[in-house]
Amino acid sequence: MQKTTLMKIQKLIPINLLNPIQYIHASLLSQWILNWGSQPLKFSEASAMVFSPHQDDETLGCGGMIARKREQGITVAVTFLTDGRGSHGSVPNIQDQIIQIRKQESLKALGILGVASSEIHFLDKQDGSLPDLNTSERQQTIAHISELLKRYQPGEVYVPHRKDCHKDHEATYYLVKEAIAESGIQVELLQYPIWVFWRAPLFILLKLKDIRSAYRLSITSVQEKKKIAIAAYPSQIQTLPRGFIKRFLHSEEIFFKAES
Ligand SMILES: [Zn+2]
Repeated sequence: MQKTTLMKIQKLIPINLLNPIQYIHASLLSQWILNWGSQPLKFSEASAMVFSPHQDDETLGCGGMIARKREQGITVAVTFLTDGRGSHGSVPNIQDQIIQIRKQESLKALGILGVASSEIHFLDKQDGSLPDLNTSERQQTIAHISELLKRYQPGEVYVPHRKDCHKDHEATYYLVKEAIAESGIQVELLQYPIWVFWRAPLFILLKLKDIRSAYRLSITSVQEKKKIAIAAYPSQIQTLPRGFIKRFLHSEEIFFKAES
C-alpha cells in the first residue's frame, strides 16, 4: 500500500483526544498489577500458539513473550481471527484497503519478532462479527482452530482476557476454549489483557481470584524488539487512544492463567 493512500485514510479518522482520567486509571491499575498484584512467571520452553482477534493485539499483548521464545528457537504460531476491516470506519472501499494494510503490517511485525509467515494464519472472519456468528459459522471456526491446535500441539495457548471489554476479544477467548476442548489436547491457557485495564473499572470487573491469577513475564531482553514490532503497525497507532500503547512498552508482560 502506498504511503500516501494510508495518509489519506488516516485523515478520515478523528485524532483521539487524550483522556487524562482514563490514562491515569489505566496506568495505576497496570502498575498495581505489575508491582503488587502479580507473581513472576518463569520463562517456559513450551511451544506456543497465539490467537489474536485483530492485527496488532498479538504484538501489544504477547510481543515480548513471542520474541523471547523465538530467540530460543521455540515454535510460536499466530492465528488472526478477524480481517481487521473495522479500524477506520465503515466505507467498503476503505475497508478493503485496510484489510490488506493490516495483513502486511502483521507479517512485518511478526517477522521482527521472529515468526515466519508460514506460521501465521488468517481466518478472515469479518471484524466485529465474532460474537454473532451463526451456528454453522461458529462450528466451522471452532473446527478450523481445533485443526490448527492438533497440527501444532502447542504447550501453551495465548488468548485475550475473557473480560477484555471488547466483543471480538471476549469471543476469541470462548471460541479458542471450545476448540481446545474439541481437539482434546492438553495446554496451558494464558490470557493477555488489551482493553481491560483501559476500559474497565478493574476492581469491579475482576474478582480477587482473577487478580490472584495474574503473572508477569520479564521481557527486558527483547523490549526494544517489541517496540520496533509495535511501530510496524502505523495504521493502528493513529487510531488507538493516546497513551494506550505506552502501557505495552513495559519491561514486563502480564498474563492471567485461566480459571480451572
Ligand atoms: Zn483487537
